[in-house]
Amino acid sequence: MIFFYFQVKSTTRVQRVAAHSHVKGLGLHPETQEALPKASGFVGQMKARTSAGVIVDLVKMKNFAGRAVLFAGPPGTGKTAIALAMAQELGDKLPFCPMVASEVFSNEVKKTEVLMENFRRAIGLRIKEKKEVYEGEVTELTPVEAEPLAATYGKTISHLLLGLKTCKGSKQLKLDPTIYDSILKQRIEIGDVIYIEANSGAAKRVGRCDAYASEFDLEADEFVPLPKGDVHKTKEVVQDVTLHDLDVANARPQGQRGDVSSIVGQLLKPKKTEITDRLRAEINKVVNEYIDQGIAELMPGVLFIDEVHLLDLECFTYLHRALESSMSPIVVFATNRGISVVRGTEEESPHGIPRDLLDRLLIIVTEKYSRENIREIVTIRSEAENVKLESKALDMLADIGARSSMRYVTQLLTPAKLIAHLNGKESVSETDVEEASHLFIDAKTSAASARIANQQAMD
Ligand code: ATP
Repeated sequence: MIFFYFQVKSTTRVQRVAAHSHVKGLGLHPETQEALPKASGFVGQMKARTSAGVIVDLVKMKNFAGRAVLFAGPPGTGKTAIALAMAQELGDKLPFCPMVASEVFSNEVKKTEVLMENFRRAIGLRIKEKKEVYEGEVTELTPVEAEPLAATYGKTISHLLLGLKTCKGSKQLKLDPTIYDSILKQRIEIGDVIYIEANSGAAKRVGRCDAYASEFDLEADEFVPLPKGDVHKTKEVVQDVTLHDLDVANARPQGQRGDVSSIVGQLLKPKKTEITDRLRAEINKVVNEYIDQGIAELMPGVLFIDEVHLLDLECFTYLHRALESSMSPIVVFATNRGISVVRGTEEESPHGIPRDLLDRLLIIVTEKYSRENIREIVTIRSEAENVKLESKALDMLADIGARSSMRYVTQLLTPAKLIAHLNGKESVSETDVEEASHLFIDAKTSAASARIANQQAMD
């Protein structure tokens, strides 16, 4: 196995975030910090974006502890998109963890466990380690290339590397120090060829490059010697992980716990056992030690909980406490409900949130879009989804969006494109949009037809 310095992606809930691929930040004026009418993929919703920018500043000034944000507004008015943009504005590669409140209700997992897991998905850790890395050129072998080597050496060989570089598809890869040690023991000279075993990662010198070249029908001058100085370097290696990644990776620990490369190394091993409170406490302990030593830095990201009115009192109590923790992400709630009963009680409260938690929230309202805003957002989304729209089709989508919802029209884009393709066309016309909107009706129309059907059944 070769250990690469990799990027962990587990917090990126791909499908939910894909709908916002056009969002690149809050789109604020660099000096006044007020939202620009159209910037960073955003159109309109200027008051909400400006308010979100203020919160980003408060967080950056470390002035937001113990508090949270609530977006209140109709469906499809950009609540998720603005929360994602907040994470982008807070820093490069900060985790954004979107969830829907109903996810906490499962038969198998406790509600607070689901919340805790998502909390930890939203907390990043940037680990900076000084590592000795081998920076030679490595050629990843195709199975066809590897086969004769396997026959010759009786081993499956995954990579060739050397004190030399090959023009044929060579790649710059960083290697794990254990492999590097193994390589050094081979006393390689410039011009040597080394192979790396696929399973053990052991390296072995197998000859000179000219011999290798003739064996594989390459010209010797396809190999260019590397300067020796490049072979061995101490580098600062930065790795971004989340606390949840570390929990999962260490759920079945192998090897010594306690040093950073050990807990990070566990990331490559498959999940086997349950993540217990004890395990999390241990991870926190190691993480805190490394923060104290300056090796790691906590990077709180954004936990976005949509449909927050669906949570119950137990969840709210848990969240209230969790917000106080020194390891808390920025929590952003969203709802489209007004006064509602707080689940688990008989009390009514604004947005179905208990009043003591409401007191800790900064509330941002998102407003319904105008037809013109919808037209512009559909234009942006159609570009992101690679859908070519004729101008009349765009107008029609804007009209439909103004009558139904923005979410509905953005969802019509792909079916309309498919219909256009089936009709042998590259771009989507009015008739394609019309056909798509007949095939897939919007929520208001479907609710109205269900009402009529119920009425007829009762009559
Ligand atoms: P819900 O309440 O249903 O969860 P929401 O308020 O979270 O909806 P989003 O999911 O953020 O709404 O928005 C729906 C789609 O419209 C997304 O693709 C989003 O990126 C896009 N969008 C929303 N508002 C804007 C905007 N102001 N500018 C550009 N794109 C937007």
